[in-house]
Amino acid sequence: MPTRNATAATPPLAGRKDGIAVVRRAGYDDIALYSAPQQRCAVDLSDNVNLWGAPPSALVAVRTTIEESVSRYPVAYEPALRNALARHAGVAPEMIVAGCGSDDVLDSAMRAFAEPGDTVCLPAPSFSMIPVFARVNGLVPVAVPLTLQLDADVERMLETRARITYLCSPNNPTGQPFSPQAVERIIDGAAGLVIIDQAYAEFGGESFTRLVMSRRPVLVTRTMSKAFGLAGLRVGYGIGSPDVIGEILKVRGPYRISAPAEAGAIAVLTNDQSWVTERVAEVVANRARFSRELALSGFSPVPSAANFVLVPVENSTALSAKLHDAGIGVRALRALPGIGDALRIGIGPWHLMQRCLDALARAA
Ligand SMILES: *Cc1c(COP(=O)(O)O)cnc(C)c1O
Repeated sequence: MPTRNATAATPPLAGRKDGIAVVRRAGYDDIALYSAPQQRCAVDLSDNVNLWGAPPSALVAVRTTIEESVSRYPVAYEPALRNALARHAGVAPEMIVAGCGSDDVLDSAMRAFAEPGDTVCLPAPSFSMIPVFARVNGLVPVAVPLTLQLDADVERMLETRARITYLCSPNNPTGQPFSPQAVERIIDGAAGLVIIDQAYAEFGGESFTRLVMSRRPVLVTRTMSKAFGLAGLRVGYGIGSPDVIGEILKVRGPYRISAPAEAGAIAVLTNDQSWVTERVAEVVANRARFSRELALSGFSPVPSAANFVLVPVENSTALSAKLHDAGIGVRALRALPGIGDALRIGIGPWHLMQRCLDALARAA
């Protein structure tokens, strides 16, 4: 039992108005929680997941391994998953780091390759989590607007001399891939680690995996949340040279992927890639048809190499609210540099895209 004195010396934080302000970490004051919509829509096209669902082999694997796996730790550093990912990516297992989503790999890479106070350079607009991961790790995000062609502005990005340079190709939310010339020039000239986030590489643009063995440190990140239909299992991965991967593994730590998630991911990678390839082909066909229909209705969608389309609109908040009332969830984006307001709309089975077009026609 604590003595009276000990209790008096350490008053409980609750009840003291300034308690948290005194002890919390400086620089976290205006970091907000991720604001994903809380209410799900009948048709949710807002978060770029696989709208056909999960690959059947993953569901079977999760079900059949659950009893034996839940009470035990998985094998540290998931060698079986790394082997399966390495075969899929065409690299050695020492060149793979998996994570609790690729978010985990991105976050760990920032801790591994930058010291508090260092700079993270990223294009604008790009993946909204990057400035957040930078700031929670004590780093300073510096956003450099895309060129008019929506490519990376190489000179301005290199001028930042950032400890970490982030590129996303195809880029979220524009859907455009970066040109290989721009990516290669950034790798040649960057002061520190270059991260190329390829969460949407299955849907178009070039794979930049070949660049991870450059003279300069490069990390390519990929995910099983989008094309592979496993967003709820939380499995992502990074590809890099063994020394880059070794540093990230130190930071990431063991046991980050649950045993059922590992089993589900391995099952798709080894038995069900054709399910993924077929869905990707449907996305590519429906993306072209959806973009054509939008253009016929007077919209100017940005040409996309991903499983979503960015559609510039006058007032994205008002329009997305109307779509929401009609049961269609899309991502409303405000005042994007060089683009303005826009809706980001995920691509899925055609009957969903038709419902979205019908709701847009009534709402616009
Ligand atoms: C969805 C997404 C991710 C991360 O997804 P995980 O589910 O954490 O793997 C990473 N980068 C971009 C650009 C994304 O859109």
